[in-house]
Amino acid sequence: MRQRLTFITLTIISTYCLALPQESRTLGGIALVPLPEYAPLDVQVLLNEVKAPIITTSHGRTAIVGIPLTATVGEATLQLSANDFSDSINFTIANKDYPEQRITLKDTNKVSPNEEELARYAREAAEQKAVYKTFTPSSSNNWPTFQMPVRGEFSSPFGLKRFFNGEARDPHSGLDIAAAEGKTVYAPADGMVAQTGDYFFNGQTVMINHGQGVISMLCHLSKINVTIGQTLKRGDAIGKVGHTGRATGPHLHWGLSINNARVNPLLVITPTP
Ligand SMILES: [Zn+2]
Repeated sequence: MRQRLTFITLTIISTYCLALPQESRTLGGIALVPLPEYAPLDVQVLLNEVKAPIITTSHGRTAIVGIPLTATVGEATLQLSANDFSDSINFTIANKDYPEQRITLKDTNKVSPNEEELARYAREAAEQKAVYKTFTPSSSNNWPTFQMPVRGEFSSPFGLKRFFNGEARDPHSGLDIAAAEGKTVYAPADGMVAQTGDYFFNGQTVMINHGQGVISMLCHLSKINVTIGQTLKRGDAIGKVGHTGRATGPHLHWGLSINNARVNPLLVITPTP
């Protein structure tokens, strides 16, 4: 009987573990921070004044905190707040040395955009930022299950420090997956289409709201098959691989954002060991 109980317990624990992201308390990583039992049920957890998702596991409530690539290495503070309740939890962010890459692009417009293009980019960046800052309460307190949005070789890793024609650019905020033009792209997890657009840098793009400030961005598509407000199940077709926007060849850029911090998407794919 005892053996059987142990088996059942282990099964339950491993099921929970599979659903959680892999923890990496580094720049561009994810911190899994257990919340104290005394925190009220409606507690909010904030990093840099942005709400982080909270999930419930067999061990209690845990905040899933995205750590920006631009965060300061060292001690960070999470604010816990609710009506008549305020507390904080400190955790340590470690450095991570991401590799460097130097790219030469022939279309110099996309390296040094002109004034009109910069204005367009500013509008588009603001539109995307508004989505990243959306916090939709979740009906369940589970972490969504993720799958790769397309199969293919990783052509550019997350966090890569990039230089275009010798000029330093923002580090790579997502994962590039090389795939044939026209290959179907799937929703990486359940969610709702929060935004679609044809952007200067990102090309044809779909943004998916997975709830509680967890947002996917899928870029450079040749075709978009979904519309804003559409509900998606993991694995639903959302478009086709392409090379629209700033892309040297057909590939999918998958960006994942948690509490407005772009994190390594592979952390939600690789199961916790
Ligand atoms: Zn990319």
